[in-house]
Amino acid sequence: MALVNAQDREVLRGPVQDDTRLLPPTDLFINGQWQSSHGSEQAVVIDPGTEQEICTVPRGDAADVDRAVAAAKEAARSWGALVPRERAQILLRLAQRLEDHAAELAALESWNTGKPPAVAADDVASAVDSFRFMAGAARSTTTVASGQYAEGHLSLILREPLGVVGAVTPWNYPLLMGVWKIAPILAAGNTMVIKPSESTPLSTLKFAELTADLLPAGVFNVVTGRGSVIGQRLAEHPDVAMVALTGSVGSGSAVARAAAGSVKRVHLELGGKAPVVILPDADLAAAAAALRTAGYWNAGQECGAACRVLVHASVAEEFTSLLVNEVSSMVVGEPGAGSEVEIGPMISRQHYDRVLEHLQRAAADGARVAVGGGALDGPGYFIAPTVLADVPQGAACTQEEIFGPVVTVETFEEESEAMERANEVPFGLAASVWTRDTARSHRLASALDAGTVWVNSHLVLATEMPWGGFKGSGYGRDLSAYALDDYSRTKHVMHNQQA
Ligand code: NAD
Repeated sequence: MALVNAQDREVLRGPVQDDTRLLPPTDLFINGQWQSSHGSEQAVVIDPGTEQEICTVPRGDAADVDRAVAAAKEAARSWGALVPRERAQILLRLAQRLEDHAAELAALESWNTGKPPAVAADDVASAVDSFRFMAGAARSTTTVASGQYAEGHLSLILREPLGVVGAVTPWNYPLLMGVWKIAPILAAGNTMVIKPSESTPLSTLKFAELTADLLPAGVFNVVTGRGSVIGQRLAEHPDVAMVALTGSVGSGSAVARAAAGSVKRVHLELGGKAPVVILPDADLAAAAAALRTAGYWNAGQECGAACRVLVHASVAEEFTSLLVNEVSSMVVGEPGAGSEVEIGPMISRQHYDRVLEHLQRAAADGARVAVGGGALDGPGYFIAPTVLADVPQGAACTQEEIFGPVVTVETFEEESEAMERANEVPFGLAASVWTRDTARSHRLASALDAGTVWVNSHLVLATEMPWGGFKGSGYGRDLSAYALDDYSRTKHVMHNQQA
C-alpha cells in the first residue's frame, strides 16, 4: 500500500523499549508449569512502533489445548470447593501482585502494542481494580430468597461454578481484556485456559509468570497460537463448559458455531461503531474535548470508541472546527517518547493497511479530510489522527469498524432521524448523546440500541457497571456482578418438607 503522508505531523521517537528482562518465559503455561508445545511452529512477536522483532512464541496445537483442559478439569473440583472468602483472598493477592509489578507490566504492554504509557498504565490499574472488585463481588452474590414458593416445599437456589472456561482475547488491550475474563471466571469458582492474540501474547504470559505461586496448579493455563486452531479447539472441546471471546464479529460467530456442537455456553464481546449524537443545545467545546480522548484512546483501536459523530446541522461547522482544533494538537509517538504521547501505532502491518484502505474508500465516497487522513513516516505503523467531515449518509466509513484514529462527522436535521441513523449499524456496543435538556437525554438514551449509553460523556467505565453489547456486538457482560452471573450457574433445590 502506498503511503499517504498526511501532513507534517511528527512521530515522536523515544528510547526503544527493548529490555529483555521484562519478557516472560515464551512457552505454554499448563498445570502450573512452563511446558513446550507438541509442535515446533513459532509466531514472531513484533514491536509495532519500530517493526522490530521482540521474540517468538509457540504456535500451540489442539493436543496442547487438550493437555491444558485436562489440567483445568483436574483443578476444578478443589478450586470450586473453596468458600468465596478463600478465593477472594487469592484474588486480592493477585491484585496486589499486579500492582507491585505495574510499571513492568505497563512497559511490556507498551513494547508489544506500541500504546502510550498513559494508556498502558490505565490498563494495569483497571486490571488491578477488576480483581479487587471481583474478590468482593464473589462474597456478596444474591439470588431469590429461599422459602416456600410451592406449598410444603422449601426452595433454595445454589450458585455453582460452570467448570472449565475457555477464554480468547484480542490485541487491543491484551492484559485488560484478559483480566476482564480471568477475574470473574476465577472468582465464580471456575478454572480456565486462555488464548491471547498471536500478536500480543506477552502480558498474558507475564501474568502467568507473576502469579504462578499464588494460584493452585491447573487453575489458570495459557496456550498461545492461532485462533482458528486453539480458539476453535477450546470452543469445541467437550470438557470446556463455556467459551468467552473478545474480538471481531467473524471470530465470535466462528466460536459460536464451533460451540454449538457440544451445546456449550458462549460469551461474546465483539466489535462496535459507537454513535455520538450531538444536539444543538449541547456544550460543543466539552463534547470536542471529550472526543479527543474518547475517539482516539489507544489510537482508536477501541471497541467503544466515539468514532461516529451525528451532529445537528445547525452546529456542525462549529463542532467540527472545535474537534479539528483538539485533534490537530494531539501528540503521536512511540511509547518511549514520553508521557505526553497520546497516539501510538496500529498494532500490525495488516491492520495499518486496513485502516489506510478505509481512509481511501472514505475519500472516494466523498468524505472531506478535515485533519490527518493518512499514514505518517515510519518505521512503525503510525496513522495521523483524522477527522472526516461532510460524510455522506450511509458511507462505508459510517457503518464499518475502522478501529483506527478516525472520527467521522455526519449531520442530521431531526432528532428522530438521528436515532434511526445511530441505530442503523449492525453493532450495538456503546453510544453517547450530548444535550443540556434532561428530558431529551432520558428519551434518547432509551432509544439508542447499545449496551452502554453515556449522556454528556463517552468511554468512562466503572468496574461495578456491566460492559457488553447488543446485536452484532455480542452477548454476555464483562465487569460488574453481571459477569459473575454469566460465569456461574444457578441450581434450584426443592425440599418436600412434608416427607
Ligand atoms: P480477532 O477477532 O481477530 O481476534 C480476537 C481473538 O480471537 C484472537 O485471540 C484470535 O486469535 C481469536 N480468533 C480468531 N479467529 C478465531 C476462530 N475462528 N476461532 C476462535 N478464535 C479465533 O480480533 P482482534 O483483531 O484481535 O481485536 C479487535 C476486535 O475486537 C475488534 O472488532 C474490536 O471491536 C473487538 N473488541 C471488542 C471488545 C468488547 O469489549 N466488545 C473489546 C476489545 C476488542
